[in-house]
Amino acid sequence: MSSPLLVVGSVAFDTLHNPSGTHSRILGGSATYASLAASHFTKVRLVGVVGKDYPDSAIQMFRQHDIDLEGLEVDKSGDTFHWEGRYSDDLNSRTTLATDLNVFATFSPKIPAAFKSSPFVMLGNIDPVLQLEVLKQVEKPKLVVADTMNFWIGGKRDDLIKTLARVDVLVLNDEEARELSGKSALVTAARALFAMGPRVIVIKKGEHGAVLFEGSEIFSAPAYPTGEVIDPTGAGDTFAGGFIGYIASKGETSHATLRRAVVYGSALASYSVEGIGVDRVLTLTRDDIEKRYNIFRTLTSFHE
Ligand code: AMP
Repeated sequence: MSSPLLVVGSVAFDTLHNPSGTHSRILGGSATYASLAASHFTKVRLVGVVGKDYPDSAIQMFRQHDIDLEGLEVDKSGDTFHWEGRYSDDLNSRTTLATDLNVFATFSPKIPAAFKSSPFVMLGNIDPVLQLEVLKQVEKPKLVVADTMNFWIGGKRDDLIKTLARVDVLVLNDEEARELSGKSALVTAARALFAMGPRVIVIKKGEHGAVLFEGSEIFSAPAYPTGEVIDPTGAGDTFAGGFIGYIASKGETSHATLRRAVVYGSALASYSVEGIGVDRVLTLTRDDIEKRYNIFRTLTSFHE
């Protein structure tokens, strides 16, 4: 049975420099990508903050996707979080040019009473101190998924470790898994990350797919061989949103469901990179997602 999903994370303006040009102040943020992806599967409740410069059209965009904005604070005292990054010509690496926290610097998440019993929680990439504040306010969720990034692994490691002790599933990329665990082989890295608290680790490997570790089970999904990578921004958050959105739509957390969720997350992420910012994910239908899910099935079938 489909269950509501609480998503917390950054709601941002992004300025991107990539081979197709400069895209100034487009909609971005971990919570934006994750909630739009998850909204294809279940009812999403968004918690975050925006500033006085955040446009009404963006609020409407969330509403059109039936995303509940009761937990989206509008802080008129400052501007919306802004992130700026430059991609390499092959789009495989990027450099952060600016992280302007703006209203995020003083944000303290307040979970609306109606959201506190959300059975599924997605802690999008955001300050781990804020992630923990959210966990202190929710009532025994069935599953908590957290995402993070090098900015926090390097800058707030001790806080991140405190948060991880209360997380069920950690989603991160291979470089971050190595940095956080101090181990170079991904299997050993996953074991070291288990010891920090999460019982499931999902390691994203960009164009090489994703690997799920749960106990002694390992599941590896390829990436969709898209010929059209235009903008990889938000692929990780879209993956995480699709992953937990699918799990919430099933209402249970069996290993088989987690495996299928990795494939749904990968399908969503493969669409996300085909457009600038959230453009492609906005126009997706459930039918498009199912089509790509089925292509993944044929991609990995070899024993008929
Ligand atoms: P991804 O490409 O999946 O790593 O996510 C990119 C998104 O993360 C962008 O839309 C940014 O707005 C957001 N972002 C970048 N840095 C941070 C940060 N330090 N905290 C929260 N969100 C961030």
